[in-house]
This record gives sequence, structure tokens and C-alpha cells, in this order.
Amino acid sequence: MKTPPTALIVVDVQCDFMTGGALAVPLPGQDLPAAETILPPINQLMAEGHYARIVLTQDFHPAGHCSFAANLGVPLYSVARTPAGRDQVAWPVHCVKGTPGAEFHPGLYTRFADLIIRKGVRTEFDSYSGFADDGGDLTGLAGYLKANGIEAVDVVGIATDYCVKATAIDAVKAGFRTRVLATACAGVAKDTIAAAFAEMAAAGVTIE
Ligand SMILES: [Zn+2]
Repeated sequence: MKTPPTALIVVDVQCDFMTGGALAVPLPGQDLPAAETILPPINQLMAEGHYARIVLTQDFHPAGHCSFAANLGVPLYSVARTPAGRDQVAWPVHCVKGTPGAEFHPGLYTRFADLIIRKGVRTEFDSYSGFADDGGDLTGLAGYLKANGIEAVDVVGIATDYCVKATAIDAVKAGFRTRVLATACAGVAKDTIAAAFAEMAAAGVTIE
């Protein structure tokens, strides 16, 4: 079978999600490999040259962002209601625009990227998905991919159980044949990773 024009979407491979960062993945005590272990497979995928387009997403929050426990006034990792009325996991302050933690990990071959999509840029809405935020604002990613004839996407990156999951499910909704390459993904916690794979599969994502 002929392979359709395919894009690689690399989700949030940023300093704050890696060892030493504000929200290092996985969380401590999970008996999972550190997120840096996905750098070689992701770099190899980009370097091989098989993808018609390569897109990086970048979590990029204002300091007052609604996903930060400090702004919500609740304990870390609890679920709170945002001022906009969304249920929101209360994360540590992470990926604040203009800070080193928001930068791509220096080991990521960013030179292969055709497009960088910044997400979570509105104070009042989070955006796990690379396609749209929780308030419905589109990032333009679907339009970019369709304008370039892309029919399928492979999704990799961080975190399997949050932003990779949301991006992959939105890719299916946008009409793309969607795969998640599990060995090039890192997640927050074992139970939510397992649930995320089940949820993605149920939504029509192929897990490889
Ligand atoms: Zn974030």
C-alpha cells in the first residue's frame, strides 16, 4: 500500500519536562525511564528524511497561566476549576515564555523542524493539544498540514498521557490517519499512560 503524505508532530520536547526541569517527566517514583531517553529515537525519525513535514509544538505560557497551582491557589496535581470554568490539573509553574525552561531541550535536532507551534499562550485556557486550546482557539496546525497535502501524522514526544494524547486525538478529529510511536514518547505516570493508550486507541489512533 502506498504511504500517504505524512507529517511528524514532535510534542513539547522542552527543558522543563526533562530531568532538572520544573515538571520533569516522569514524576518521581514511577519506575519509568527519564524523558531524555526519547531524544535519540525522535532525532533519528527527523534525520531519516521520510516525513513530508516536521512540526514541533512548544508549551508556552504567560506567567499568570491558569494551569499553574500557584495561580489556582490549590495543591500541586489536584484538579481545580479555572476562572473560565474548566476542570484543570494544577501543575507546577512550567514553560513560562521567555524562560529557559520553555526552550526546546538542547539535544533535540530542532534544525529539522518546518514549523513550530506555540500553545497554551492564553492566560485563561490550557492547551494540551497542538491543534486547539481548551477555549477552542485553533493554533493553525490542521490548516498548515492540509494546505501542504498531509494525510497522515505520526505523533511523538511529551507527555504521553496529556499533550501527546490530546494532540493525537485531535489529529484524528481533523481527519488525519494518526499513529503514536510509543517508544518515542514519555509520560507522567504509569496509570495515566495506560489509560491514555486505551483512550487514544478507542478514538482511532494506531499505537505502535
Ligand atoms: Zn503547560
